Amino acid sequence: MTALQFDHVTKRFGRFDRQVVALDDVSIQLADHEVLALVGPSGCGKSTLLRAIAGIHPIDEGTIRLGDRVVDDGRVQMPPEKRRVGLVFQEHALFPHLSVTDNVAFGVRDDTAPTRAAEMLDLVGMSEYADRYPHELSGGERQRVALARALAPNPDLMLLDEPFASLDTNLRARVRDDVVAILRSTRTPAVFVTHDQHDALAVGDRIAVMRAGRVVQVAAPDVVFHRPVDRFVASFMGEASYVPVAAASDVVGLADELTALTEPEATDRTLMLRPDDIVLEHGDGAVVEHAEFRGTVWCYTVRLANGAAVKSLRNHLEPVQVGSSVQARLRPGHHPVVLDA
Ligand code: ADP
Ligand code: MG
Repeated sequence: MTALQFDHVTKRFGRFDRQVVALDDVSIQLADHEVLALVGPSGCGKSTLLRAIAGIHPIDEGTIRLGDRVVDDGRVQMPPEKRRVGLVFQEHALFPHLSVTDNVAFGVRDDTAPTRAAEMLDLVGMSEYADRYPHELSGGERQRVALARALAPNPDLMLLDEPFASLDTNLRARVRDDVVAILRSTRTPAVFVTHDQHDALAVGDRIAVMRAGRVVQVAAPDVVFHRPVDRFVASFMGEASYVPVAAASDVVGLADELTALTEPEATDRTLMLRPDDIVLEHGDGAVVEHAEFRGTVWCYTVRLANGAAVKSLRNHLEPVQVGSSVQARLRPGHHPVVLDA
């Protein structure tokens, strides 16, 4: 079964010369029980995509299905309250005048509400806070309550829009992992929006990368990270170096010895290298230009003979001197990625 399906969905805002195409021919699917991380820079259309699913924004073209129900075909929209989706936003909009229990029970429209609220608070580890009010909770606690409230009506799909953006780094990773564990334990499929590639890599069964209203790649985290379809995805998902190369055939032969790469005359191709893909060895052909301490590792910037700079991570117990000559190699087994420049 498919939990969610977008077929050629387009959503525009504004009119005529001031029109913004917030979703541009988007087609994606979400399997049952799948957590899809949706990433992309600010303004690329992530929130619009979630709001289209929730029924807050009607779409202009295409079809959105939830399970086997068509909820929007560009003409007829199923009302939001009938869609059985749960929403958690960054600005955890709890009702300030309702207690934690009443907030969670709010969306359950029958007499199971009190029991259900108690169960959900237990699930998110907030039972002890049942009688408190939102202003008596920390940011992380409020997000747990918001999650409990969204889960209480037993939605078919959860939509989370940068739910942890307001939390500080340490707390955020913990709450994030807790929330994903809860989604998995209740087998609730989810679309998890973030502009943070670490969050996306950590939580997504698959990752959808968006740019300017389009979905440019949907794949498992390791595929998006190690085999990006283009340079935009490569740089958005993490640190990388780009070395111009003359042609793909060059790379296959030479990639494991980067120092031997010659300067291409004119090229529209680049070799993408993650800093952990490059190892430095005794030898010549490259010069260590800069060293940056990152705690567990050092990150070295190395200038290759062909003029390109690459970064290489190395354990803090094996430092290399700035200014020394080295040989730079691709880590054995690493697959070289060639992108259009
Ligand atoms: P993201 O969540 O990825 O940051 P959004 O989905 O909020 O991006 O916005 C996508 C684009 O649509 C942006 O250019 C934004 O300015 C525009 N947009 C979003 N909502 C509206 C709206 N209600 N009216 C007009 N333009 C909007
Ligand atoms: Mg947004």
